[in-house]
Amino acid sequence: MRVYNFSAGPAVLPEEVLKEAAAEMLDYNGTGMSVMEMSHRSKAFEEIITTAEQDLRDLMNIPDNYKVLFLQGGASQQFAMIPMNLMKNKKAAYIITGQWAKKAYQEAQNYGEAVAVASSADKTFSYIPDCSDLDIPEDADYVYICENNTIYGTKFKQLPNTKGKTLVADVSSCFLSEPVDVTKYGIIYGGVQKNIGPAGVVIVIIREDLITEDTLPGTPTMLKYKTHADNKSLYNTPPAYGIYICGKVFKWLKKMGGLEAMKELNEKKAKILYDFLDQSKLFKGTVVEKDRSLMNVPFVTGNEELDAKFVKEAKAAGFENLKGHRTVGGMRASIYNAMPIEGVEKLVEFMKKFEEENS
Ligand SMILES: *Cc1c(COP(=O)(O)O)cnc(C)c1O
Repeated sequence: MRVYNFSAGPAVLPEEVLKEAAAEMLDYNGTGMSVMEMSHRSKAFEEIITTAEQDLRDLMNIPDNYKVLFLQGGASQQFAMIPMNLMKNKKAAYIITGQWAKKAYQEAQNYGEAVAVASSADKTFSYIPDCSDLDIPEDADYVYICENNTIYGTKFKQLPNTKGKTLVADVSSCFLSEPVDVTKYGIIYGGVQKNIGPAGVVIVIIREDLITEDTLPGTPTMLKYKTHADNKSLYNTPPAYGIYICGKVFKWLKKMGGLEAMKELNEKKAKILYDFLDQSKLFKGTVVEKDRSLMNVPFVTGNEELDAKFVKEAKAAGFENLKGHRTVGGMRASIYNAMPIEGVEKLVEFMKKFEEENS
């Protein structure tokens, strides 16, 4: 029996995609082998990766002057790769809205001057700071944000005013959850294990003028965007099976009606949970209303023992991975694209029942 999996990542995938992958496990499309066993230079795999890229381009409306790279090393490797490739002036502005942004900021300090231009650390990252008129250094190479904060459950509803500087965004936990205007960014990237596919693939969408030979001295070949752009993500063996699953999820998203339809569905799902939290006497959300994420919903009872009891009883009832991040406590429900609306409805029913029994 499948559970309702509220994990923040790796996370729930569409059941349809998993079933298709299972059916193709021993013999992919008449090749007589699994995608796991196939050469990444084969015709069959070439078609998988080019179709995946094209479907992603269609979904996000990615302009021709952007490259799509399928890389490894997780989102965390981008924390270094971005400054190594972009810090020509050895300076960049970082907006600190949680642990992932902070890690990126700290990593960038190994390569140049990373300037924290805004932060919401003062209130445990429960809001997004006003970024309409920040003090961005004249010579900053880029402005960096984590667009959806997986741990704290906040999301930028409006992009920062970068004062003409290149915007770089980690979208790991909101990738393909709603339409985006790619032209507003220099780089959009994310690990796929939150909202797209299995761990092991990170997708980088990068404007072509940012791909240069002019990287910081000592930048390894594998950490230059140019290496992967010049070789269509096939410089070395790519995470082939992961890319294949991502491709299936892109097809699924197209069938679901694309990103406009996903946005509508995600808003509907999140509303069910937030509406309940707003009227509950036991549970409460931890994020400022205007900055609430559609993907990650942290909440607490205010009593650690009761939180633990809730997580335990929820698990027994088939709702998995509701424990909050170790740095925040409480609970967190991650309701990514592949979480069915019934999952959220049933969770809320369960929360109501728990509230009645424990107040
Ligand atoms: C999970 C996550 C990361 C880290 O991803 P890895 O692939 O494990 O390196 C970075 N940023 C955000 C927003 C995340 O949610």
